[in-house]
Amino acid sequence: MQVVVIEDEGPIRRFLKTILCSQGYDYLEATSGKGGLEAVALNRPVLVILDLGLPDIDGLEVIKQLRDWSTVPIIILSAREQEGDKVRALDLGADDYLTKPFGVSELLARIRAAVRRSTKGSEELPATFSFANVHVDFGSRLVSVDGKEVHLTPIEYKLLVTLIRHKGKVVTHNQLLMQVWGEGYNEETQYLRVYMAQLRRKLEADSRKPRFFLTEAGVGYRFKDGKDE
Ligand code: CA
Repeated sequence: MQVVVIEDEGPIRRFLKTILCSQGYDYLEATSGKGGLEAVALNRPVLVILDLGLPDIDGLEVIKQLRDWSTVPIIILSAREQEGDKVRALDLGADDYLTKPFGVSELLARIRAAVRRSTKGSEELPATFSFANVHVDFGSRLVSVDGKEVHLTPIEYKLLVTLIRHKGKVVTHNQLLMQVWGEGYNEETQYLRVYMAQLRRKLEADSRKPRFFLTEAGVGYRFKDGKDE
């Protein structure tokens, strides 16, 4: 399983190389955007780790070009001064992000989740999905907690299904608004806050300390069923 790392900073490349090799991945590297695009096209890796600040073309441009012909998972590495770009990167189709400096265990968890999604391919959602004491039946659109049916509004249900479909992955405000509400709602992040609070109240044991519907501050939300890490 090959992983392509596109990063111009030597120390970070060496760090990633050590970690990826220790986990049995084949490590390939590129130090520029153009080189990275070539490496992905030639090797068809299971994962791309991409730095946003590259010497030739911008990391955002790399994502845009890559997404024209590839669905390979992309994990973004961003520096603090690139916070805004991080959101744009996710909107453009990156799968996840890490802000430098990042820890090894966090990196590995993100890699495992991304590779799992990648190797599973675009498999259909199963007919039902469970996490903790919550059961979702996609066929009948019924949601229950501890075996008791919970009423969700159509928007709440759509939000739930969208987050489950992107399980383990951060979904930006923009992506959620587009997928749940549709065109023209991409500025309405307060809708999201309201509906997310409702979803948590209905499905989380303690909505103030959510375990499954997590907030990614300034970016979006992530659904985690706890089985990934
Ligand atoms: Ca850089």
